[in-house]
Amino acid sequence: MSCVSRRDIVAVTPWLAPIVWEGTFDSHLIDNIYRPQNITIAATVFAVGKYIRFLQDFLLTAEQHFFIGYRVVYYVFTDKPEEVPHVNMANNRKLNVVSVPSSNRWQEISARRMELIQTLIEEKLRNHADYIYCLDVDSKFHGPWGAESLGHLVAVIHPGYYGGTRSKFTYERRSVSRAYIAEGEGDFYYCGGAFGGSLKGVHTLADTCRWNFEADAAEGIEAAWQEESHLNRYMWINKPTKVLSPEYLWQDFKPRTPELKIIRFSGVIKNYADIRPNE
Ligand code: UDP
Ligand code: MN
Repeated sequence: MSCVSRRDIVAVTPWLAPIVWEGTFDSHLIDNIYRPQNITIAATVFAVGKYIRFLQDFLLTAEQHFFIGYRVVYYVFTDKPEEVPHVNMANNRKLNVVSVPSSNRWQEISARRMELIQTLIEEKLRNHADYIYCLDVDSKFHGPWGAESLGHLVAVIHPGYYGGTRSKFTYERRSVSRAYIAEGEGDFYYCGGAFGGSLKGVHTLADTCRWNFEADAAEGIEAAWQEESHLNRYMWINKPTKVLSPEYLWQDFKPRTPELKIIRFSGVIKNYADIRPNE
C-alpha cells in the first residue's frame, strides 16, 4: 500500500466526500478500478481572443499529465480555429475545435461558458463521454491528474482560500443575486477555473448556473466573480461528491505551503492588461 496517512490536512468533508490530497490515495488501485471500465474523459477549454496563446502549453502539459492511459477528448472553444496549435497525441486522445464568436468583454466570454458546456453535453457528448472537466486555459499541468479525481460532482478548493476563515471568502453577498451566500454559510471557496464530474452532474450544474446567471443579468445584476460565484452557490446547495485540494489548481505566483506535496495544475502568471479585451 503506497498510501501514507496525512495528519496535516483534512481528507474528508463533513458530508463525507473525499478531499483529494497527495498521500491519501493509491493511484495503482484506483486505476485497477477505472481502467477496465473503458471510460472516456472530455475536457473543455476556452481560448477566446488573446487567450489562444496559452493553448499550446496547456495541451502539451495535459498530454504529459492529464488522465494518461485513458481515452481523452479535448473540446477547444475558440474564435480563432486556424490558430489552434497542432499537438501530437497518443491514439486514444483527440482534439475537437468548436468555433465561438469573439467578444469585446471578458465577462461575456466567461458568462457564455456554462451555456456552451451545457449545449456540448446535450448535442455532442451524450453516449460519447462518461466524465467531463472544464478547465481554464491559462494554466499548465505539472503533475499527474488522473482517475482519483473522478466523481459525480467535482469541485476544486481555491488556492487562495483553503486555509482561511469563511468570512473572508469572496462569495456573492448581495441577496438580490441568485449567487447569494449569506454570512456564516458556505463550505469551501471553490475555483471557477476547474470543475467537473459525470456528464449528468455537470449538465445539471451548467444548466442551473446558466439560468441563474441569465436571470441575474436580466435584472442588471452581475455577481461579484461572475460564474465562479454561481458555481460556489451551486456547490453549496448541491454538495460535491468529491473535493479536490488546491494541488489541482494552484497559482504560479503563490509560494508553496508545506501541505502542498505536489502541484498538479497551476495558473500561469499573466498580465490582465495585455490579454483581456477590456478592463
Ligand atoms: N477566457 C478566454 N478569453 C478571454 C477571457 C477569458 O478564453 O478573453 C477564458 C479562458 O479559458 C480563461 C477563462 O476564460 O482561462 C477564465 O478567465 P481568466 O483566466 O482570465 O480568469 P482568472 O483565472 O484570472 O480569474
Ligand atoms: Mn484563469
